[in-house]
Amino acid sequence: MAKKIIAANWKMNLMREEAISLFNGVKKGLSAHKETEIVVFPPSIYISDLISNHPLIEVGAQNFYFEEKGAFTGEISPFQLKNIGCNYVLIGHSERRELFDESNELLSKKMRSALDANLKIIYCCGETLQEREEGSHLEKIQSQLEILKSLTNDELNAISIAYEPIWAIGTGLTATLGQAEEMHAFIRRILIDSSSKELASEISILYGGSCNENNANELFNCPNIDGGLIGGASLKVDSFLKIVDSIK
Ligand code: PEP
Repeated sequence: MAKKIIAANWKMNLMREEAISLFNGVKKGLSAHKETEIVVFPPSIYISDLISNHPLIEVGAQNFYFEEKGAFTGEISPFQLKNIGCNYVLIGHSERRELFDESNELLSKKMRSALDANLKIIYCCGETLQEREEGSHLEKIQSQLEILKSLTNDELNAISIAYEPIWAIGTGLTATLGQAEEMHAFIRRILIDSSSKELASEISILYGGSCNENNANELFNCPNIDGGLIGGASLKVDSFLKIVDSIK
C-alpha cells in the first residue's frame, strides 16, 4: 500500500518568525499521527531553521537547480539540500512551469539530479481549465508523466505524484470526487504500465488544489488518493492539522 503523505507548500509566504511558529505549532499537534508522512516545503531560506529530528516531519525544497555545483549565481544544488538534511523536493509545480517557464527538458534534468542526490520527489502534474473543458485532460497528464518512463523501479520508489488541476490551485474550486478519483486511477494505470502493479500500488498519488479541512476527508477516502499537497490551508496550524486528521 502507498504511504499516506500530507505535504504543505508554503510558497513565497511567511516571515522567519511566522514560519518557525507555524512549524512548531504543527509539530506540537502531530504526536497522534504516526502513519502519515508530513512534509513541509518552506521558502528555502528557512529550510535550515526548520530541519529537526522530529520523526514525523520532513522538510523539503520548493525549488533547486539541476547542476551539482559551480558558477550558477543564486541557485541551490540538490546535493547541497541533501547535505543540510533536506530529503524532499517538489518538481513540476504548475507555478514553476508557467511563471518560470520550466520546460519538460528542464524538469527531466531536475528529476535526474534530484535522484542522483538521493532526494525524494513530489512530481506535480495538472491540466488547465481549457484542457478539461476540451476533454484533453487525460492526455495532458499522460504527457506530463512521460518523464517517468526512463526511470528504473528503484528510482520510481523515490517518487510521489501530486495531481493538481491548475484551475483548482488557489481558486477555492476543488475537483469533484469523481474527477479526482478518475484522474488518480488513470495515473495509477500509467504507473502500472511503467513498472508493475505491485510497485505502482506503492507510489503515493496526492491531490492538490484548494484542499481544505472541509473537503479533505472525502477526497482522502477515494481509493486512489493517498494524501494531499496543500497550499493556502497549510499556512494555519489549525486547518493544516485538521487536514492531517482527515486521513485514515
Ligand atoms: C499548490 O499550489 O500546490 C496548492 C495545492 O495550492 P492551494 O491548496 O492553495 O490550492
